[in-house]
Amino acid sequence: MGDMRMAAAPSELRHRILLVDDDVDQRDAIACFLEMEGVDANTAVDGREALYALRNGPRPCLILLDLNMVGMDGREFRRRQLLWPQMAGIPVVVLSGHPELKTATRAMEAVEVWRKPVELHLLLRAVGDHCHGHSRGDSLSATVAVEPHGEAALRSMLTCAVSPLTMSPRSGWRRG
Ligand SMILES: [Zn+2]
Repeated sequence: MGDMRMAAAPSELRHRILLVDDDVDQRDAIACFLEMEGVDANTAVDGREALYALRNGPRPCLILLDLNMVGMDGREFRRRQLLWPQMAGIPVVVLSGHPELKTATRAMEAVEVWRKPVELHLLLRAVGDHCHGHSRGDSLSATVAVEPHGEAALRSMLTCAVSPLTMSPRSGWRRG
């Protein structure tokens, strides 16, 4: 029942997360999970693609940003984002495989710093906590208020046939 309501929500009413990570498996798994939960996902393989996605794609509610990427890394992306008045306000969750980097990432003004691998249910909580474009109390809160449900999430990922939208400067939007 809940799934049908979420699926029927117009896209502009849905949360959208920009995933910036060069680990294709992790990126696709997260994007797939989000789509199943009624949250739109865009993906980028590095900071350069992420900047491109911000410039040309729909505005995300939240950015999930890996630190170490081939190409433009997370720090450089964040530095440029903060210098971009229209985009500086989009909250960023930094992913780091190294907990000792927490201090360094604080300087990036991230709203949260997570260790890898990403706990998927945290994404729904984080977008609910940090998205200021979608008010609480409407149908969206139903989307993000779902309980952590490891098994169901795992099942949905195993059966996920959604291919997340991927954006690249060379090919533009494509179904990846
Ligand atoms: Zn939102």
